[in-house]
Formats: sequence, C-alpha cells, structure tokens
Amino acid sequence: MHLIKDNSIVVTKTQYTAEEFIQKKIVLLKDEVEPFFAVDLEDICNKHIRWLTSMPRVTPHYAVKCNDDINILKLLAYLGAGFDCASKGEIKKVMDLGVSADRIIYANPCKQSSYIRYAQEVGIETMTFDNEQELMKIKQLHPNAKLVLRIVTDDSNAVCRFSMKFGADINTACKLIEKAQEIDMTIIGVSFHCGSGQMTSKAFVDAIQNARIIMNYGIKLGFNMHLLDIGGGFPGNTGTEDYFSEISAAINKTLEEHFPDNGNIRIIAEPGRYYVASAYALATNVIASREMIDSETGNMKYMYYINDGVYGSFNCVLYDHYVPEPSLLPKNESNKKYTSSIWGPTCDGLDCIHQSIQMPKLNIGDWILWKNMGAYTISAAVRFNGLPFGKPHYFMSKQFWDSVKAAFQTIPRKYQVDTSVIRHNSCDCSNEVEDDMLPWLPEDFIEDATVVTIQ
Ligand SMILES: *Cc1c(COP(=O)(O)O)cnc(C)c1O
Repeated sequence: MHLIKDNSIVVTKTQYTAEEFIQKKIVLLKDEVEPFFAVDLEDICNKHIRWLTSMPRVTPHYAVKCNDDINILKLLAYLGAGFDCASKGEIKKVMDLGVSADRIIYANPCKQSSYIRYAQEVGIETMTFDNEQELMKIKQLHPNAKLVLRIVTDDSNAVCRFSMKFGADINTACKLIEKAQEIDMTIIGVSFHCGSGQMTSKAFVDAIQNARIIMNYGIKLGFNMHLLDIGGGFPGNTGTEDYFSEISAAINKTLEEHFPDNGNIRIIAEPGRYYVASAYALATNVIASREMIDSETGNMKYMYYINDGVYGSFNCVLYDHYVPEPSLLPKNESNKKYTSSIWGPTCDGLDCIHQSIQMPKLNIGDWILWKNMGAYTISAAVRFNGLPFGKPHYFMSKQFWDSVKAAFQTIPRKYQVDTSVIRHNSCDCSNEVEDDMLPWLPEDFIEDATVVTIQ
C-alpha cells in the first residue's frame, strides 16, 4: 500500500526541512517501511536563483541524465532553464512538457543515427560532436545542424572523468573545423566538460582558455563562432556553497578576459548534480542486523541491512564514487559507538553501502536518513531481486507553491488536441486536494498540509 500517490506534492503552511518532513511522515507509516525520498523542490528553485545571480552571463541547461524526475523537469522548464539531453528518450521527455527545441542542446558527442534523425524531425539543431565520423554522420542525417565541437579537458581532479571517452584535443579540433568547412557544415561553438564532481576552478579556467583558441581558429576560417558551452561538474551538495562561489567567480573573471560581452557571444552550461544533489534526502529502514565480536579488538561490532542498496538509490556508491553519510532518525545522541557496516537488501555481497563506520547501536525498524541523494541515484536504479528503491515524495511550503504552481499545471503539449483525454485523466492536470489522501498525514500535519495531485 502506498500512502501517497505518485507525483503528489505535500504543500505545508509552514516551511519544513527534509528531516522534519521525514520525521512527521514516519510517525504515521508504522509498518509501511519502504524507502522513500523527501524531495525539497524549493531547494531546486534556490539553486536556480543562486546560479543566475552567481553567473548571470551563463544560461544553465540542466543535464537530464542526472535525475530525470518529471517534477524537477517541470519546475526547471517553468523557471526558464534550458536542457542538455543525451538521447531520444530524454529529448522526448523534455519536449512533451512543452519545452521548445531551441532550449535543448543534444550534448552527446556520439549519437545513434536514428536519434540524430529524430532530433532533426523535432527541430533540435544544436548538438555536440568530437570526431570526424560523427561529423559525417550528422552531415548525412541533419545537414542543417548547428555543431558544437567538444574538446578535452584536464579532468584529473574530478570524481567522474569523461575525457578518456569524449573530446577532441587541440590539433584534432582544428582538423575537424577544416573538415567541417570542406563539407559545408556549420560549427557555432565549442563545449567541454571538466568531469563530474570537479574539485578545482582551474580546470574551468584552462578549458575556457582552450575553447578561446579553438573558437579563434574557427573564426579565422570564416565560421560564426558564437556559442561557448562550459559543461557540467558544478558541486551540488549542502555545504559546497563556498566552493561553488569560488568556481563561479573564477569563471566570470575568465569569461570577462577571453569572452567579453560583445553582444554576439552566447554562453551556456550543463549543470546536473548542482541542481538536484541537495534537494533529495533518502529515508531507509533497518530491516535486519547481525551482532559479532571483532576478532582484533574484542569489542562488539554490527552489520545492518537496510531496504535500499547499490542496485537501487545507492548505485551512486558504485557509479559515482559517492560516500553517503548516514544520520539517525530520531537523532541518537549516544556517544557509545560501534564499528558497523551497512548493507543493501539484495542477496549480492557487492551490495554494501559502508564497509566500516562508527555508529551507535541500531535496532531493527530504525530509520536512517541520507542527505544529498539527488544526483545520479534514482536515474540509474534498478529493481534487482524484485526490491523497490526510494520513491520520491515531494514537499514545499504554501508560499512557495503559490509562486510556482503554474509549473505543475501546464498542460503537456501532446494532450492539447484532445481535451477529453485530460478530463478523464482524473485531475484535469490541475491541482486538486484529494481528501482520501489526507488520513495518512500525522496529526499536526493535517492542520498544516494539503496534498496536491498533479498529472
Ligand atoms: C553528465 C553530463 C553533464 C552533467 O554533469 P554534472 O557533473 O552532473 O554537472 C553535463 N554535460 C554532459 C555532456 C554530461 O555528460
């Protein structure tokens, strides 16, 4: 039994933290212990504002692969962000929300031919490439494409590196520009990606300088090079705000130096984790435990099994090299800590979230909260062993809801033709308080919250 419908948003009179939201929710959940996410949509909006104020010249194109949750896409579409899509599926998902093709960059340098054709059919022109075969492919399938040349970066300081897979070096880039000129294809600019989880601003500074060199070469050959795409890699966890400020300041300064605003240059970025990492907190339940004696120290040690793991929401532990931090709900102030390990629910020994961590003793049925779980988590999760992973439960304050509700009320373009479909779709794609949803809410929540079901 799920106590709240998919895509419902809990709108509260006062503002809640994720912790408060989760705590109130688990009071009433009782035996319903499936893992779930508390999704703070307001946090995403705050990130957007921070972006616009920190780098006013750089238009963000949200990297859909990072987390393709429909409510995030709706909110960002409403807030005016662009989108970085890497496949037909991502393009379709974003365009079905009514986002126009000129707000999308197809930023996968190696694309399936049928997807290039699809992009052409739906009017997406801006796309990246980094090799001659791809250039020839696009020439054949989408001769009017506006090409963006992806160059390599030094991503040695990034958590997830891309440059071994994508990007042309300076020599290759110059040859590609010559080739494009020869076959009459249009290059409009340069892109790069400094690696996901990039830890230095220098990587951005160097890459922007290299982009300038390549752009100059293109201009020399007669191309109208007017797009600079500085990619993703911006930090998004709570606590990385200062670091984001440092990166953005360095970027602004470098742009001023190498790409002064002359009315012709357009600068975009493809942030993924920046937008979503801190908006998601995951609540998991301890479903089993095992007590042992540590043969080295003679102390007790514990193994805990929780109901989401590396095949589900914690796939970031394997793919994104993420070290998630547990906190206990309710907070356990006990300072007696034991060496513990935390395991996912599948039958696989690989399914381990923490090999060794100091924690107070936990009981079966205890809840563990994991913050900063929005980036590269549910987007790559699978139901291995028939086990579910965290389901998103959205919340926001009434005040915030009042200013953004139109984001969730817009009628998808594909439904516009046949309005009868919408009427039968239970909720007119508009907000509607569903009374039958209310009983799950904790006592003091009923006063304070309404549940809005959106389509
Ligand atoms: C993954 C990816 C991004 C997003 O990277 P983040 O580190 O999440 O910001 C942006 N652009 C491209 C081409 C990507 O592959």
